[in-house]
Amino acid sequence: MATKIVNSLAGLPAEVTVKKLVKRSNYDELWISFPESERICPHCSSQDCIIKDSGKNYTVYHSAVHHRSTHLHMQRKRYYCKSCRRTFMQHPDWLHPTLHITQLLHINICLSLTKMLSLRTVAEENGVSESIVYSDLDLISFDTVKSLPQTIAIDEFKGDSSTWSSDRQRWIKAKYHTNIIDGDSRSVIDILPVIRASDLKKYFRQFPKHERDNVHFYCCDMHNGFVSVARDVFPQAVICIDMFHVIKHLNDCVSKIRRQLQRELEPTDPDYKLLKGSMRMLIAKQSSIDAKYDQKAPVVKKRLINC
Ligand SMILES: [Zn+2]
Repeated sequence: MATKIVNSLAGLPAEVTVKKLVKRSNYDELWISFPESERICPHCSSQDCIIKDSGKNYTVYHSAVHHRSTHLHMQRKRYYCKSCRRTFMQHPDWLHPTLHITQLLHINICLSLTKMLSLRTVAEENGVSESIVYSDLDLISFDTVKSLPQTIAIDEFKGDSSTWSSDRQRWIKAKYHTNIIDGDSRSVIDILPVIRASDLKKYFRQFPKHERDNVHFYCCDMHNGFVSVARDVFPQAVICIDMFHVIKHLNDCVSKIRRQLQRELEPTDPDYKLLKGSMRMLIAKQSSIDAKYDQKAPVVKKRLINC
C-alpha cells in the first residue's frame, strides 16, 4: 500500500519500486528498480534473447513534484539477441524512447508548449534544462500535405499561436488563423497562422499546377481575400459561397434599404414606426408573415416596392 501511495504521489508506474530518496537543495533524487518485461529485440523482433550483463546506471529526468525537479536513477539490463547477435538495453515503456526523460515528463512538456510561454518558463515549470525542452520540441513534427482534394473549404478562426520572426528575433502573435479542410472527407488538411491572401497564395503555390487544377470546388465565406485566392490559384475551381453568408448578406441588404427608407420619413409619419419595427417581418417566412404580421405587411411591402 505504501509503495502504491509513493508511486502515485511521484507519478511513477505501479511496477516501479522506490529504493532510496535523497532530497537535495532544489531537486529530489530517487533510486528505483522495476521488474523485467518481455525480451523483444528492437532490431529483429525476436524473443530469443538472453541477459548479457546487468548494464549500467541510467539517469533520467522525471516530472517535477511540487515544483521540485526529480532525477531517477536505475539499473537497466543489457540483452543479447541470439537471432541477430546484437545487443540492446532494457527499455520500459514509461521511459521516452530517445530522450533521457520519462513519458510523463514528455507529456507535461508538450502540454506546457501549447501555452503562450517562453521556452525558459516551460523548462522552469517542468524542472528541466532549456536544452531538454528544445530537444522535445524538435521531435514534434507534422506530415506535410502532399496532394490537394477535389473540394477545398477554407475559413478563418481566432487563435493565439505565434510565428518566429527571424528579422525581428521574436515570436509574433497571430490573431487570426486559416483552417483548410478537405470538403469531401471533412478532415482538416492544414492550419496556417496567417490570413492574408498573399500568404495563402504563397502556401497553395507550393503545390504543382496539376494538383491545383484538380480542385473542382472551393468553398469559403465572402472574405475578399479568400475569393481572390481561388481566382488566382484555383482557376478551374467553382467558387461556392456558403449558404449562411449568402443569407446573411441578403438580410443585410434588406436591412440597409429599410434603414434608408426610414431616414427619408419624418418620425411623426405612421409609416416610420412600421418600418422601424419591421426587420423581423421582412426576414420571416411567408407563413409567419401571414399569421403574425398580416396588418403591417401590406404597408411595409408597398413602401419597399415604391422605393
Ligand atoms: Zn535481434
